Amino acid sequence: MATYENILSIKGLDAGYGENPVNRGISFSVQSAEVVGLLGANGAGKTTLLNVISGFIKPTAGSILFEQASLIGRRPDQVAGLGVIQVSQFMDLFLDMSVEDNLRLGATCARGRAETGRGALDAVFKSFPRLAERRSQKVGTLSGGERRMVAIGRSMMGQPKLLLLDEPSGGLSPQFVAEIGSICSRLKEQGATMLIVEQNFDLVFKVADRIMVMREGEIVYDDTAVATRENFNDHELARFVYL
Ligand code: ATP
Repeated sequence: MATYENILSIKGLDAGYGENPVNRGISFSVQSAEVVGLLGANGAGKTTLLNVISGFIKPTAGSILFEQASLIGRRPDQVAGLGVIQVSQFMDLFLDMSVEDNLRLGATCARGRAETGRGALDAVFKSFPRLAERRSQKVGTLSGGERRMVAIGRSMMGQPKLLLLDEPSGGLSPQFVAEIGSICSRLKEQGATMLIVEQNFDLVFKVADRIMVMREGEIVYDDTAVATRENFNDHELARFVYL
């Protein structure tokens, strides 16, 4: 098994909304080029955790180190500027703008750190031929699956060092789920480091090196994907994750 150096290290993290605590005592690390799948029931606190890492929500306790730099107190644009890039469930795309212009906006957080010009755009179009064909089309006229591709492509324009994917297959047809799975596999082959929140076990096990399960805001399971496959069949895993 490959050895990794920690790129993200979280210790004793608590976070929530006003008087409502959500994430409690979260501790884990992600190593460089590792893909971690985060599973959990609706409302378990997975998106909250991603939003804390990205700087959208301030934690009430704990530490987050990214490449040895603390992320605590940094604004979302500063976190993205360091290379921690989130693809949110809602994608936050500009619907009246073209595919190409949406993609170009993703490059702003990589400025001064990595290639952001024509080469980066060409690389995204190479990964997403469907987007290349629709480069001038307004994003508001794309299908849900195509929009998801724009959101992932935009994150790639930011040259992420750590990609936070929030349910990349959520709400998509089986054909698009398969396409998103292939895209995630390709990113993994290229050495991407990813934390993926997903409900689709097939997709998760296609790409993840490690599986974590969150329940009521706490990480209750953390083991390799191989060990997880040995420990649970799909039915048992679903019972463990969702009950
Ligand atoms: P899902 O799989 O349904 O997306 P999740 O595991 O990502 O769920 P979160 O979205 O992190 O869960 O939500 C965790 C808890 O925090 C839920 O009880 C939710 O109602 C609450 N919550 C989320 N956002 C807010 C907010 N802006 N204000 C108050 N409570 C919130």
